[in-house]
Amino acid sequence: MEFSQYPVDALLKITNRPDLVFTEGQGMWLTDHQGKRYLDYLQGWAVNCLGHSPQCLQDALVKQAAKVINPSPAFYNEPSIELAALLTENSCFDRVFFANSGAEANEGAIKLARKWGKLNKNAAGEARYEIITFNHGFHGRTLATMSASGKTGWDTIFAPQVPGFPKAELNDIASVERLITDKTVGVMLEPVQGEGGVLPATREFMQALRKLTQERGLLLIVDEVQAGMGRTGELFAYQLSGIEPDIMTLGKGIGGGVPLSALLCREEFAVFEPGDQGGTYNGNPLMTAVGAAVLKELLAPGFLQSVKDKGQYLRGELLKLCEKHSLDGERGEGLLRALKLGSNIGAQIVDIARDMEPVGLLLNSPRSDLLRFMPALNVTKEEIDQMISMLSEILGKIKG
Ligand SMILES: *Cc1c(COP(=O)(O)O)cnc(C)c1O
Repeated sequence: MEFSQYPVDALLKITNRPDLVFTEGQGMWLTDHQGKRYLDYLQGWAVNCLGHSPQCLQDALVKQAAKVINPSPAFYNEPSIELAALLTENSCFDRVFFANSGAEANEGAIKLARKWGKLNKNAAGEARYEIITFNHGFHGRTLATMSASGKTGWDTIFAPQVPGFPKAELNDIASVERLITDKTVGVMLEPVQGEGGVLPATREFMQALRKLTQERGLLLIVDEVQAGMGRTGELFAYQLSGIEPDIMTLGKGIGGGVPLSALLCREEFAVFEPGDQGGTYNGNPLMTAVGAAVLKELLAPGFLQSVKDKGQYLRGELLKLCEKHSLDGERGEGLLRALKLGSNIGAQIVDIARDMEPVGLLLNSPRSDLLRFMPALNVTKEEIDQMISMLSEILGKIKG
């Protein structure tokens, strides 16, 4: 294993990694241990919203590290107050709890919903705790968030599951309505299912869901860990459908690459009491300072419009590829897009793309007949053109 001076076997094997070590990252580019460069359309799985190591992130880390890193969540710190203020000023939410990962933010959302369901009991005087979630949804890898997820097989791997997450079908309001019982407290979904293969909830569905949850006294929880923070061209994906949810979670893009996530809620649902929620690193100033720096970049005049424009451009180029290579089309919102390959060549393309010379291309295939694109939000038109031309070359070879 010449790519590292240490034995890689010391790492617990959780995925099949290629024999590469990435040593540097800048914008849309990663460099490996041999100096080979890769155009990176993964960006840490839609995490590095401003690309690898953007200047604003480096500055925020260095400046904050020299000031104070961890006074403890038992005390206020300036960056977390600032970031919470920025998030609430720019959304329909009033309160924020910071966490370290998307799964942890979602656990918090589930706890908040269950607490609210305990305070707002059903007609029989019982606590409500069921949260309707969706087939093919993804909410994280803790036990509760795995149970909330709708990935095939996830109900049995670490059985028994955490109960209370019946599954509906995305964009099928009747399938949600059918699952409502006197135990239901809310509905939780990704406005665009990311891991499930970039499946957007329609505007009509989101509006019907908001109406239904309001009528039945249920919480509407949006998991924007992947789709939030400018990814769709709106700051938050719920804004695409003109509705206002009750609870939202953020992760990935909010830290621009560092571990940071958030749980947001409207004032009337802010029912945690001291002792209900916490965590050693939550809201630490080092990460929240980065979050504030990232969010300010996203809010700069013209930034979100440029995401929309580049999303449209990428869409157009993907459609041209479809024409040229007889593929099945594309879908997505903003700069979270998928190309439908029409056959199970996803994994093959990912491997060929990575191994191309002189520069490689990093792609993701969440399903065997699909490629997902999650570039930095400040990707350039040239970097889109370069990816499309490399992909076209690969498709030409595979499809003959
Ligand atoms: C990635 C993701 C999560 C989990 O986030 P982690 O930081 O990996 O825990 C949850 N929900 C959605 C929609 C995601 O894309």
